[in-house]
Amino acid sequence: MTLAVIGAGPAGLAAAIAAADRGIRVRLVDSAAQPGGQFYRQPPEALGARRPEALHHQWRTWRRLRDALARHVEAGRIAHLTEHHVWFAERQLGPSSGFTVHALLGPEQEEAATVRADAVLLATGGYEKVLPFPGWTLPGVVTAGGAQAMLKGGLVLPGRTAVVAGTGPLLMPVAVSLADAGADVAALVESAGPKDFARHAATLAAHPAKLAEGAGYAAELLRHHVELLPHHTVVEAHGKDRLDAVTVAALDPEGRVRAGTERRIPCDTLAVGHGMLPHTDLAEALGCRIVGPGVAVDAEQRTDVPGVWAAGETTGIGGAALSLAEGHIAGRSAAARLRGREPDPRWWAAAAKSRTRARQFAATVDAVYAPPAHWAELLRDDTLVCRCEEVPASAVREAVDELGATDARSVKLLTRAGMGWCQGRMCAAAVAGLTGCEERSARRPFARPVPLGVLARAGEDEPDPGRPR
Ligand SMILES: Cc1cc2nc3c(=O)[nH]c(=O)nc-3n(C[C@H](O)[C@H](O)[C@H](O)COP(=O)(O)OP(=O)(O)OC[C@H]3O[C@@H](n4cnc5c(N)ncnc54)[C@H](O)[C@@H]3O)c2cc1C
Repeated sequence: MTLAVIGAGPAGLAAAIAAADRGIRVRLVDSAAQPGGQFYRQPPEALGARRPEALHHQWRTWRRLRDALARHVEAGRIAHLTEHHVWFAERQLGPSSGFTVHALLGPEQEEAATVRADAVLLATGGYEKVLPFPGWTLPGVVTAGGAQAMLKGGLVLPGRTAVVAGTGPLLMPVAVSLADAGADVAALVESAGPKDFARHAATLAAHPAKLAEGAGYAAELLRHHVELLPHHTVVEAHGKDRLDAVTVAALDPEGRVRAGTERRIPCDTLAVGHGMLPHTDLAEALGCRIVGPGVAVDAEQRTDVPGVWAAGETTGIGGAALSLAEGHIAGRSAAARLRGREPDPRWWAAAAKSRTRARQFAATVDAVYAPPAHWAELLRDDTLVCRCEEVPASAVREAVDELGATDARSVKLLTRAGMGWCQGRMCAAAVAGLTGCEERSARRPFARPVPLGVLARAGEDEPDPGRPR
């Protein structure tokens, strides 16, 4: 029996190992060259990192996952298919049951391969939510996770003087990592404020380890003399050819900029993030139900499509610990069911307990951290909203105010916002905010841009690199 696990981050690794431990043959498919996903992103060996653990938390857990993966690969139970960018997954039609996973290979992504399996486990994680503001397309403005990825994966700093801004629990570790690696972090600008935390004090207090983690980051930031600016936002990024400063301002209780509080901070890097969204494209292609922003799963991490499991941030954003717990449960459930056995929830009681606690905490985090309610008012008419198709805010406003668009799809048809290379992954939240409509999953047929030649050949017998010989 073969299980295709798509994604080798914490969720995918935990799932692949749990299934392989129980004798299931696993094909672990990931677009990255190294396992680890976002949280455990590793630099290429050629960079010769002397102390890669210095950039990581929970290194012991990573070593356990890495060593277990290596043992299963060595034993032939897991085929780890790196640099496989999955663009589509489908249930096989006709007499053969199971699934076909279509991938583009290597950095060029021009060649294709297919992976066949009896079941699929989606562990594709999430991506960062990006909201525009004047100057956000200047070189030197990066996403918070992007800055972290440059550091962990490339061992490079995005610049010398950084401002970290936006909202969400990722900002503190990013600011600490940048400062630890030698950047001068001028400020951490967070739109959530003390009152937002106070409202959830009881739930937060029920998670002392998380509070201690947050306090640890705060202490590190103070040690590095990073100015903390809660209940503030970035109003504008400045620079001619690249970033040289940002203007930040305090927010009033309604989430509007408080007039007269604007301040200019010189910097060559702005690492900005407004939270994360689950990757759901492959799940949608397979016909799985989506609830809210993520893939809907039951207590065993099964989707409503038989033979398809989902774990980690593809089901909802919640951090690495939640991804590990969900991955473990999904891998064990898949292993049992592929052998035709009814799994016993007692097998994963400890992971289920961690999952419940982590989901509770994630819900609170979600309620605390939010972009300023009136962020869209900061956009000038010439601020780009969709950078792929270079659509400015004025065009979106015209589509809404004068042409009567009330949803993102109409705005797309009228302005081309969301029609470019990223297919709206970057601008969907901004278009929804400007249009005043709900942010919905986009139902993209393919998870990646696909060369026409690959599409034309799809269905012909492509090589299956993980197939046991
Ligand atoms: C850019 C970025 C940086 C982050 N940095 C941190 C951090 O430093 N600290 C922290 O606490 N949290 C960080 N996070 C949050 C982090 O996502 C989670 O804490 C955790 O990594 C989630 O684990 P996961 O296994 O669910 O997903 P991920 O770790 O995101 O793993 C998903 C895996 O799926 C693969 N994948 C996705 N789509 C496809 C596809 N179509 N084909 C093939 N492979 C695919 C990806 O390459 C990735 O390896 C970051 C998130 C992002 C987006």
